[in-house]
Amino acid sequence: MSERILLVEDEEKLARMVELELQYEGYQVEKAFDGRTGLEKALSGGFDLVLLDIMLPALSGMEVLRRLRRESQMPVIMLTARDTVVDKVSGLDMGADDYITKPFAIEELLARIRAALRKRPAPAAEQAAGALLTAGPLAMDPERHEVAVGGKTVDLTRREFDLLRYLLENKEKVVSRESLLDHVWGFDFVGETNAVDVYIRFLRSKIDERFGFKLIHTVRGVGYVIREG
Ligand code: CA
Repeated sequence: MSERILLVEDEEKLARMVELELQYEGYQVEKAFDGRTGLEKALSGGFDLVLLDIMLPALSGMEVLRRLRRESQMPVIMLTARDTVVDKVSGLDMGADDYITKPFAIEELLARIRAALRKRPAPAAEQAAGALLTAGPLAMDPERHEVAVGGKTVDLTRREFDLLRYLLENKEKVVSRESLLDHVWGFDFVGETNAVDVYIRFLRSKIDERFGFKLIHTVRGVGYVIREG
Protein backbone atom coordinates (compact mmCIF):
# COMPACT_ATOMS: atom_id res chain seq x y z
CA MET A 1 0.00 0.00 0.00
CA SER A 2 1.36 3.40 -0.88
CA GLU A 3 2.14 5.89 1.82
CA ARG A 4 -0.24 8.73 2.48
CA ILE A 5 1.04 12.27 2.75
CA LEU A 6 -0.90 15.26 4.03
CA LEU A 7 0.18 18.51 2.43
CA VAL A 8 -0.79 21.66 4.33
CA GLU A 9 0.04 24.61 2.11
CA ASP A 10 -2.00 27.71 1.32
CA GLU A 11 -0.26 28.52 -1.96
CA GLU A 12 -2.54 26.43 -4.10
CA LYS A 13 -0.35 26.40 -7.19
CA LEU A 14 2.64 25.20 -5.22
CA ALA A 15 0.46 22.65 -3.43
CA ARG A 16 -0.82 21.32 -6.74
CA MET A 17 2.68 21.09 -8.17
CA VAL A 18 3.97 19.20 -5.14
CA GLU A 19 0.90 16.98 -5.17
CA LEU A 20 1.51 15.98 -8.80
CA GLU A 21 5.16 15.20 -8.13
CA LEU A 22 4.36 13.14 -5.07
CA GLN A 23 1.62 11.24 -6.88
CA TYR A 24 4.07 10.55 -9.69
CA GLU A 25 6.37 9.03 -7.07
CA GLY A 26 3.53 6.77 -5.96
CA TYR A 27 2.41 8.55 -2.81
CA GLN A 28 -1.22 9.21 -2.01
CA VAL A 29 -1.68 12.91 -1.33
CA GLU A 30 -4.32 14.92 0.43
CA LYS A 31 -4.18 18.71 0.56
CA ALA A 32 -5.32 21.28 3.09
CA PHE A 33 -5.08 25.01 2.40
CA ASP A 34 -5.24 26.37 5.93
CA GLY A 35 -3.88 25.42 9.32
CA ARG A 36 -7.13 24.47 10.96
CA THR A 37 -8.23 22.12 8.21
CA GLY A 38 -4.72 20.70 8.12
CA LEU A 39 -4.74 19.98 11.83
CA GLU A 40 -8.16 18.34 11.65
CA LYS A 41 -7.07 16.11 8.81
CA ALA A 42 -3.79 15.23 10.49
CA LEU A 43 -5.57 14.29 13.71
CA SER A 44 -8.16 12.23 11.89
CA GLY A 45 -5.33 9.81 11.23
CA GLY A 46 -4.36 7.62 8.38
CA PHE A 47 -1.37 9.66 7.22
CA ASP A 48 2.22 8.54 7.17
CA LEU A 49 3.72 12.01 6.96
CA VAL A 50 2.74 15.67 7.04
CA LEU A 51 4.27 18.44 4.93
CA LEU A 52 3.47 21.58 6.86
CA ASP A 53 3.91 25.14 5.70
CA ILE A 54 4.71 27.64 8.47
CA MET A 55 2.87 30.70 7.19
CA LEU A 56 -0.74 29.54 6.99
CA PRO A 57 -4.12 31.17 7.42
CA ALA A 58 -6.44 30.21 10.31
CA LEU A 59 -3.73 28.51 12.38
CA SER A 60 0.00 28.89 11.89
CA GLY A 61 2.16 25.92 11.00
CA MET A 62 3.90 26.15 14.37
CA GLU A 63 0.58 26.00 16.19
CA VAL A 64 -0.56 23.07 14.06
CA LEU A 65 2.68 21.29 14.92
CA ARG A 66 2.34 22.03 18.63
CA ARG A 67 -1.17 20.60 18.77
CA LEU A 68 -0.40 17.66 16.55
CA ARG A 69 2.47 16.67 18.82
CA ARG A 70 0.12 16.36 21.80
CA GLU A 71 -1.50 13.43 20.04
CA SER A 72 0.77 12.05 17.41
CA GLN A 73 4.38 11.35 16.59
CA MET A 74 3.78 11.12 12.86
CA PRO A 75 6.68 12.55 10.83
CA VAL A 76 6.36 16.24 10.05
CA ILE A 77 8.49 18.20 7.57
CA MET A 78 8.10 21.95 7.83
CA LEU A 79 8.04 24.03 4.66
CA THR A 80 9.32 27.50 5.29
CA ALA A 81 9.66 30.51 3.06
CA ARG A 82 11.56 32.28 5.77
CA ASP A 83 15.08 31.05 5.79
CA THR A 84 15.73 32.08 9.34
CA VAL A 85 17.55 30.14 11.99
CA VAL A 86 14.81 30.96 14.50
CA ASP A 87 12.10 29.18 12.48
CA LYS A 88 14.23 26.13 11.93
CA VAL A 89 15.25 25.85 15.55
CA SER A 90 11.76 26.44 16.94
CA GLY A 91 10.24 24.01 14.46
CA LEU A 92 12.71 21.30 15.33
CA ASP A 93 12.35 22.10 19.04
CA MET A 94 8.63 21.63 18.77
CA GLY A 95 9.04 18.21 17.27
CA ALA A 96 9.29 18.68 13.53
CA ASP A 97 11.41 15.94 11.98
CA ASP A 98 12.91 18.13 9.32
CA TYR A 99 12.39 21.36 7.43
CA ILE A 100 12.94 22.53 3.91
CA THR A 101 13.22 26.11 2.71
CA LYS A 102 11.13 27.36 -0.18
CA PRO A 103 11.80 27.46 -3.04
CA PHE A 104 13.03 23.88 -2.99
CA ALA A 105 13.95 21.40 -5.66
CA ILE A 106 11.45 18.56 -5.74
CA GLU A 107 14.28 16.00 -5.58
CA GLU A 108 15.39 17.56 -2.32
CA LEU A 109 11.87 17.30 -0.91
CA LEU A 110 11.54 13.68 -2.04
CA ALA A 111 14.84 12.82 -0.36
CA ARG A 112 13.69 14.39 2.92
CA ILE A 113 10.38 12.55 2.71
CA ARG A 114 12.08 9.20 2.17
CA ALA A 115 14.44 9.89 5.08
CA ALA A 116 11.59 10.89 7.41
CA LEU A 117 9.54 7.84 6.45
CA ARG A 118 12.52 5.54 7.07
CA LYS A 119 12.89 6.88 10.60
CA ARG A 120 9.38 5.84 11.55
CA PRO A 121 9.00 3.08 14.08
CA ALA A 122 8.53 -0.36 12.60
CA PRO A 123 4.88 -1.38 12.15
CA ALA A 124 5.09 -3.84 15.05
CA ALA A 125 6.32 -1.14 17.42
CA GLU A 126 3.65 1.19 16.14
CA GLN A 127 1.01 -1.40 16.82
CA ALA A 128 2.15 -1.73 20.42
CA ALA A 129 2.20 2.04 20.87
CA GLY A 130 -1.26 2.42 19.39
CA ALA A 131 -2.89 0.05 21.82
CA LEU A 132 -6.64 -0.38 21.95
CA LEU A 133 -8.72 1.86 24.16
CA THR A 134 -11.41 -0.16 25.86
CA ALA A 135 -14.34 0.20 28.22
CA GLY A 136 -16.37 -2.90 28.95
CA PRO A 137 -17.41 -4.45 25.63
CA LEU A 138 -16.34 -1.37 23.67
CA ALA A 139 -12.98 -1.27 21.92
CA MET A 140 -11.44 1.58 19.95
CA ASP A 141 -8.43 1.24 17.69
CA PRO A 142 -7.20 4.85 17.33
CA GLU A 143 -4.66 3.95 14.64
CA ARG A 144 -7.21 2.28 12.42
CA HIS A 145 -9.98 4.67 13.40
CA GLU A 146 -12.31 1.82 14.29
CA VAL A 147 -14.80 1.33 17.09
CA ALA A 148 -16.58 -1.90 17.90
CA VAL A 149 -18.87 -3.18 20.62
CA GLY A 150 -18.69 -6.91 21.16
CA GLY A 151 -17.15 -7.23 17.70
CA LYS A 152 -19.90 -5.20 15.98
CA THR A 153 -18.59 -2.13 14.18
CA VAL A 154 -19.91 1.25 15.23
CA ASP A 155 -19.86 3.96 12.57
CA LEU A 156 -18.92 7.32 14.05
CA THR A 157 -18.30 10.70 12.50
CA ARG A 158 -14.84 12.11 13.05
CA ARG A 159 -16.11 14.45 15.77
CA GLU A 160 -17.93 11.66 17.56
CA PHE A 161 -14.84 9.53 17.30
CA ASP A 162 -12.60 12.27 18.74
CA LEU A 163 -15.03 12.90 21.58
CA LEU A 164 -15.27 9.22 22.44
CA ARG A 165 -11.52 8.87 22.22
CA TYR A 166 -10.90 11.69 24.67
CA LEU A 167 -13.42 10.25 27.11
CA LEU A 168 -11.83 6.80 26.79
CA GLU A 169 -8.36 8.21 27.35
CA ASN A 170 -9.73 9.69 30.57
CA LYS A 171 -11.79 6.65 31.54
CA GLU A 172 -13.19 6.81 35.09
CA LYS A 173 -12.27 10.51 35.29
CA VAL A 174 -14.96 13.17 35.03
CA VAL A 175 -14.20 15.45 32.09
CA SER A 176 -15.71 18.95 32.04
CA ARG A 177 -17.53 20.37 29.03
CA GLU A 178 -14.86 23.06 28.80
CA SER A 179 -12.12 20.49 28.67
CA LEU A 180 -13.98 18.55 25.97
CA LEU A 181 -14.54 21.70 23.93
CA ASP A 182 -10.89 22.55 24.28
CA HIS A 183 -9.53 19.13 23.35
CA VAL A 184 -12.06 17.97 20.81
CA TRP A 185 -13.21 21.20 19.18
CA GLY A 186 -10.13 23.35 19.70
CA PHE A 187 -9.33 26.59 21.47
CA ASP A 188 -11.09 28.89 19.06
CA PHE A 189 -14.36 27.03 18.99
CA VAL A 190 -17.23 29.40 18.30
CA GLY A 191 -20.75 28.14 18.38
CA GLU A 192 -23.27 26.71 20.74
CA THR A 193 -21.73 25.70 24.05
CA ASN A 194 -24.17 22.82 24.12
CA ALA A 195 -22.31 21.22 21.21
CA VAL A 196 -20.80 18.78 23.69
CA ASP A 197 -24.21 17.70 24.97
CA VAL A 198 -25.49 17.27 21.44
CA TYR A 199 -22.58 15.03 20.48
CA ILE A 200 -22.86 13.07 23.71
CA ARG A 201 -26.47 12.34 22.69
CA PHE A 202 -25.27 11.11 19.30
CA LEU A 203 -22.74 8.81 20.96
CA ARG A 204 -25.32 7.48 23.42
CA SER A 205 -27.74 6.65 20.65
CA LYS A 206 -25.05 4.88 18.65
CA ILE A 207 -23.54 3.02 21.59
CA ASP A 208 -25.43 2.97 24.90
CA GLU A 209 -28.92 2.77 23.41
CA ARG A 210 -28.07 0.54 20.49
CA PHE A 211 -26.29 -2.02 22.60
CA GLY A 212 -28.33 -1.60 25.77
CA PHE A 213 -25.77 -0.66 28.38
CA LYS A 214 -24.71 2.48 30.17
CA LEU A 215 -21.22 3.64 29.33
CA ILE A 216 -21.35 7.44 29.19
CA HIS A 217 -22.47 8.95 32.48
CA THR A 218 -23.50 12.55 33.12
CA VAL A 219 -22.12 14.22 36.23
CA ARG A 220 -24.58 17.03 36.69
CA GLY A 221 -23.07 20.50 36.58
CA VAL A 222 -19.61 19.09 35.85
CA GLY A 223 -19.38 17.03 32.71
CA TYR A 224 -19.17 13.45 31.53
CA VAL A 225 -17.38 10.26 32.42
CA ILE A 226 -17.02 6.82 30.91
CA ARG A 227 -17.38 4.14 33.57
CA GLU A 228 -16.98 0.45 32.98
CA GLY A 229 -19.13 -0.81 35.81
CA1 CA B 1 2.15 29.90 3.20
